Amino acid sequence: MTQTSNRVRTLAPGGDDGWAIFHRARAMRAAGVSLADLTVGDHDIGTDPAILTAMDAAARGGHTGYAAIAGTDGLRDAIAARVSTRTGVATTRDNVLVTTGGQAALFAAAMACIDPGGRILFPDPYYATYPGTVRAAGGTPVPVPTRPEDGFQPRRAALEAAGPADALLINTPSNPTGAVYDADTMDQIAQFATANDAWLISDEVYDTQVWSGTHVSPRALPGMAERCFVVGSMSKSHAMTGSRIGWLIGPEAAIADLIVLVTHTTYGVPGFIQDAAEFALSRGDAFEAAIAAPFLARRDACLAVLAEQSVVGVIPSGGAMYLMLDIRATGMSAFDFAAHLLEAHHIAVMPGDSFGKAAAGHLRVALTQPEERLIPALTTILSVAKEMAA
Ligand code: PLP
Repeated sequence: MTQTSNRVRTLAPGGDDGWAIFHRARAMRAAGVSLADLTVGDHDIGTDPAILTAMDAAARGGHTGYAAIAGTDGLRDAIAARVSTRTGVATTRDNVLVTTGGQAALFAAAMACIDPGGRILFPDPYYATYPGTVRAAGGTPVPVPTRPEDGFQPRRAALEAAGPADALLINTPSNPTGAVYDADTMDQIAQFATANDAWLISDEVYDTQVWSGTHVSPRALPGMAERCFVVGSMSKSHAMTGSRIGWLIGPEAAIADLIVLVTHTTYGVPGFIQDAAEFALSRGDAFEAAIAAPFLARRDACLAVLAEQSVVGVIPSGGAMYLMLDIRATGMSAFDFAAHLLEAHHIAVMPGDSFGKAAAGHLRVALTQPEERLIPALTTILSVAKEMAA
């Protein structure tokens, strides 16, 4: 039989892409089982009706043909203005590539940074698509361990120990850990990238969800704009996950090269989605803050419950829509614990190992249910952990 390429067959080695619990939960839901789904980072609200109205008007107004491949001028300008304002780095439309979600921006960045065999380092735990994205671009993914004791902030010594780096891919606020890299960590990262003459890819899709600390975009650090790509997305900031709209910011020459890549892959984002995105960005900070606010309230409610017990630990979460729970005291693997929770209690969470070896013994809980469902689910998780640890 004709075989698919080695490249696509090995995107998820061993056939285990870490999503077994998620797929099982989806199957149970499809079979009519009611469960608390705390697996993926999809909001419990839909896209705002005003954005949908703008989308509808754009489509009915005729923006249904092939759209500008790099992004419409209006959207690229709106993104550039946003990045300039938020980071203080002068950014124009020539620094902006509009992509089908942050995921396509990650892939474009990886393609831009390496030739076949190139090494892209990223802190472990990491967003689950990173290794496959690097492999899809022909590269070698190199997870760099971080430690719960350090709040999962990467340390320079671990980066140095990982061997040669063509690029370093970071994500702050972090999925899955909620870590917000502090200024010192970011300086170390910038120094490492510079010393290795490596690209830095900064995945900032959670930049509107910062609960403590300050979000630092490394592109704003001295000398970094020329070696930095920034991944952005409207999935989390505007509850537009299904619209598949994001962007990549980078040096002008690199963006020009990547427009050619887009021509040969997605051929751009639908025009009516781009118009809706431009409208969504025009709604400003208050609109984005309102979308982010429930996650802070839910995090705080969960932390209050967690503070009343000592079996399950929690990684200090400075941002993003997740909590990382340390269940090592149960002696169970995260997968076994999550599988038991799902089958016996109809609560779906992600085993930490789905996000790398460093997150073994942890569960990632997405704060994507209202408190009246989230808190009882957490209470059940805690009582199961207590029972298992006894
Ligand atoms: N980066 C991180 C860290 C994420 O958590 C996600 C989605 O969950 C993405 C990138 C991709 O988001 P999207 O493609 O929906 O913009």
